[in-house]
Amino acid sequence: MDEGALKSFLEETFAWLHSHPELSYEEHETTAKLKELLTDKHITLLGLPLATGAAAEIGRSGPLVALRADIDGLPITEASGLPYASQNRGRMHACGHDFHAAALLGAAILLKEHEADLPGRVRLIFQPAEENPGGARKVLETGILKGAGAIFALHTSPLLPVGTLGLSPGPVMAAVDRFVIRFRGQGCHAAHPDRGVDVITLAAHFISALQTLVSRNCDPFAANLVSITRVSAGNTWNVLPETAELEGTARSMTKEDRRLIRDRLHALAQGEAAAFGGEALIDWQAGPPPTTNDAGWTDFALAVARRQGFALQDAPKSLAGEDFAYYQEQFPGVFASIGTGLSAPNHSPEFIADPAALLPGARLLAALAAGALGKLAGDSVYTAGL
Ligand SMILES: [Zn+2]
Ligand SMILES: [Zn+2]
Repeated sequence: MDEGALKSFLEETFAWLHSHPELSYEEHETTAKLKELLTDKHITLLGLPLATGAAAEIGRSGPLVALRADIDGLPITEASGLPYASQNRGRMHACGHDFHAAALLGAAILLKEHEADLPGRVRLIFQPAEENPGGARKVLETGILKGAGAIFALHTSPLLPVGTLGLSPGPVMAAVDRFVIRFRGQGCHAAHPDRGVDVITLAAHFISALQTLVSRNCDPFAANLVSITRVSAGNTWNVLPETAELEGTARSMTKEDRRLIRDRLHALAQGEAAAFGGEALIDWQAGPPPTTNDAGWTDFALAVARRQGFALQDAPKSLAGEDFAYYQEQFPGVFASIGTGLSAPNHSPEFIADPAALLPGARLLAALAAGALGKLAGDSVYTAGL
């Protein structure tokens, strides 16, 4: 496919995906479309025993490298004003996962053209359910990535202009934990607080104290965060309730800080509860670990991107999470931010990814995969001409 044809194909595919967003685990139409396009391009589909998502492979025997795109949209009503805006009411590709899928398809087409020369195999993962996290773990549980020597993914960035790549070694996105705390006291008449244990006052003290957790326990140069996002207690004006429920999230960039925050939060909740004569029940739900780029493969990816003409910047770090981190727990991986033009942030109804970044993104993914195969096969200057 010549460059002009590939560019148009990617733009058309992206526009179709953008106008047909589906939520996590509901990506049936998206999956069918991707499988149809991969088959059209004679790319070998692999069985992926999941209800949505797809996997494909290019190459022959030898080392294995993986490329991953997520494919789900968000429950947002689009307000981008694009001619190819969402046709699915209340659903939007507001995180650019449509861009990721289209760029990965482009990489597949480019790699297919060089298949006979590849010194190994590239496995393409179109992953469901990144936003409602768990998709990456489900893919890993299938065993489809067994033996991968490296894994790469791009993510759209509305903070970077087209032609720019944001990439740094080490942690770039946060570990995401969720917690629910239930304070139990003793309900009583509002006029006789002495006869009960007031969980509302207890919860208020805890919420204030919690805001010292990061500032008094973590290195001030590290990025950590704890937020209470829901408080629920009581149902009338003259009764002190029996229980108060709090929900929130903790974000951290290292395993050590993650453990510290979890342990200190437990100690603080139990300590405050004991001080007030109540008790605390804590349900801690661990999400993805920090997205952490392998230093060696990051150097490699930066060199490939430079050769492809990308302007390089440090990764735009965030305390949002990314389930790509689950892959990085098992394989060395690189998660890079590709500039898709300045726009409203990811998850905004006005988010836009500029299709001009599609072809460079596809080329970069293909070159990363081919170069990584070369590196794993002992030929560190192999590029497959990509
Ligand atoms: Zn997102
Ligand atoms: Zn995303």
